[in-house]
Amino acid sequence: MTVQNQPKSKSETRLVHAGRNTKEQKGMINPPVWHASTVLFPTMADLEASASRRMNKGQINYGRVGTPTSYAFEDAVAELEGGYRAVVASSGLAAITTTLMTYAEIGAHFLITDSAYGPTRAYCDGVLKRLGVEVTYYDPLIGAGIKALMKSNTRLVYMESPGSLTFEVQDVPAIAAAARAGGAVSVIDNTWSAGLFFKPLAHGVDISVQAGTKYLVGHADAMMGVITSTEAEYKKLRTMAYMLGQCAGPDDIYFALRGMRTLAVRLQRHQESALKIARWLQKRPEVERILHPALPNDPGHALWKRDFTGSCGLFGVVLKHTSPQAVAAMLDGMSLFGMGFSWGGFESLVIPAHPETQRSAKPWHADGPLIRLHIGLEAVEDLLQDLEAGLNRLQAAP
Ligand SMILES: *Cc1c(COP(=O)(O)O)cnc(C)c1O
Repeated sequence: MTVQNQPKSKSETRLVHAGRNTKEQKGMINPPVWHASTVLFPTMADLEASASRRMNKGQINYGRVGTPTSYAFEDAVAELEGGYRAVVASSGLAAITTTLMTYAEIGAHFLITDSAYGPTRAYCDGVLKRLGVEVTYYDPLIGAGIKALMKSNTRLVYMESPGSLTFEVQDVPAIAAAARAGGAVSVIDNTWSAGLFFKPLAHGVDISVQAGTKYLVGHADAMMGVITSTEAEYKKLRTMAYMLGQCAGPDDIYFALRGMRTLAVRLQRHQESALKIARWLQKRPEVERILHPALPNDPGHALWKRDFTGSCGLFGVVLKHTSPQAVAAMLDGMSLFGMGFSWGGFESLVIPAHPETQRSAKPWHADGPLIRLHIGLEAVEDLLQDLEAGLNRLQAAP
């Protein structure tokens, strides 16, 4: 069963049907989890033919190359993102580094948004620069002005929108168009929208990368990355993933595919609860401002409204000037909000964030400390109670 040939079917419908091959699975709805390294061939001719077709769609050649489980997941993500095909990677960061490595060469120039996820930046500074790639960080709000930064050797323009700590919304179509006009590929980290609320490829972007670890998996129990692209870029990305040995464990792939079936309902709830909590926080005296593009007074709201169809559970809270001890008093005593990295699971999380330590093109200024919240699937009333008690601890701290 496939809805691939029905261009009008909605994302929610695609999420239920994408990547399924019920007929070949004896009628069962979900694909089996294929555990594989070695694949046996009956003849030498079959083995050699398989090796030469290794990069073709759906080839069964060796476990690392792909299994029916990984192909089902890749098909589902490609359909969700509206891309030609997708390539699975072992983590979100692995999907990002594989993509960057696909275009890295001595003398190439990459433009990277200053709002990029910290480890993405660390890879650019720690690996790409060492290999002879010239890296320039740019103001995430540059929009069409990126044209002035394009050089004859610019091969790649990297976006992350909204930035996962600072939540600036980028003018993705303008930046993608400038990249294309200048002969560079455009790449976006699309983790925040989960591919459901934003379709980068429909806005002219060549490659959309997601940390599937977050909302696709959705239950904080697997690591997963995935790269979706246009037809023109797909083969290069697939080949680099092969050369780097990218693959993911079959159980983790199954968790991600399973998570996708409920992605739309989970995100709807994450979205509603996060907005309620963001609006409540806006009115609190301890709060300086909220970084959430779906709020009408957010600087990124107009672009978000133009390009996105929804928002997720992740947003930032700039507190009024206070001491680190007061923030610790708040965070250390939370009962429902857990403290830990990652997000996108069913549970609410909070972390202190320090974007000022990462920026270079456009320094990050805030009057007070920044915390980042991920709103999970708990009842909003309970989460508000937890936050209220936390803000009271913050107020009471010396
Ligand atoms: C978590 C995250 C990643 C990295 O994903 P992992 O699966 O943890 O490697 C990349 N980009 C963003 C925006 C993230 O939040």
